[in-house]
Amino acid sequence: MKSACGTVYLVGAGPGAPDLLTLRAARLLERADIVFFDALVNPEVVALAAKAEKIAVGKRCGKHSTAQRFINKRLIDAAQRVATVVRLKGGDPMLFGRAQEEIDALHDAGVVVEIVPGITAALAACADLKISFTQRGVSRNVALVTPRIGAGKDPSEWIKAVCNADSAAIYMAAGQAQALSAGLLAAGMPAETAVLLVENASLPNTHRIRSNLVELPRAAAQLGDGPAIILLGAAFAHADVALQFDSATGAVALSALAMGHR
Ligand code: SAH
Repeated sequence: MKSACGTVYLVGAGPGAPDLLTLRAARLLERADIVFFDALVNPEVVALAAKAEKIAVGKRCGKHSTAQRFINKRLIDAAQRVATVVRLKGGDPMLFGRAQEEIDALHDAGVVVEIVPGITAALAACADLKISFTQRGVSRNVALVTPRIGAGKDPSEWIKAVCNADSAAIYMAAGQAQALSAGLLAAGMPAETAVLLVENASLPNTHRIRSNLVELPRAAAQLGDGPAIILLGAAFAHADVALQFDSATGAVALSALAMGHR
């Protein structure tokens, strides 16, 4: 095998807003020779890689998917040709991002790998909402889970994890709200458990819905087709005002709009 000369950087692109990218990520993008990016990565972030060849490899649920093994091979091939290969992933690369498959394949091929963390969707959503994920006396532990499992993999213990956590963030789950709600109710979680759905966290078109466990399927049906995260637990029970994106400041500001149970 031809020996690799390049380094592959698995880089977190953050939740969407381009200015939530780390400085390290921005600098790497500027000098990248090739960028492989996922579907959820904001095009404005990809555009920071001014001189790089840009290759879309991402997938959205139910949409076009590029096989993971093929992505691994393309990363290895790229590292044999150029010095700086960036693999851009939404949020943080190490959280529900298939990073380990890529790290292992690159190690096996003798390619140097570096990881650049990013802001994960759950924490971007908490920031938008101005609700702390952990709160003294309310939430001392958190669970980051997804009910999605790879084909042929063992079922996940995500229900147990959510039931045992004070606060939970459920990724890749808005499309399975009915099963999710039924599973947690059957496991004994109270019907009135507070739930917040946040679509497009950190972006101007963010959409938030307050709900509870039993009403979750109805609430989820109101989401658009952007990525959405489900936040659950007592910490999220007191979001009794809508929080709206302020285009003047670029920040999420409190508004007087009552959110209600939609
Ligand atoms: N590595 C990513 C998660 C990838 S899994 C991270 O750390 O955030 C993809 C899931 O992340 C989506 O199905 C959704 O649940 C969540 N997600 C990603 N971006 C989001 C956003 N801007 N707002 C809400 N949820 C988001």
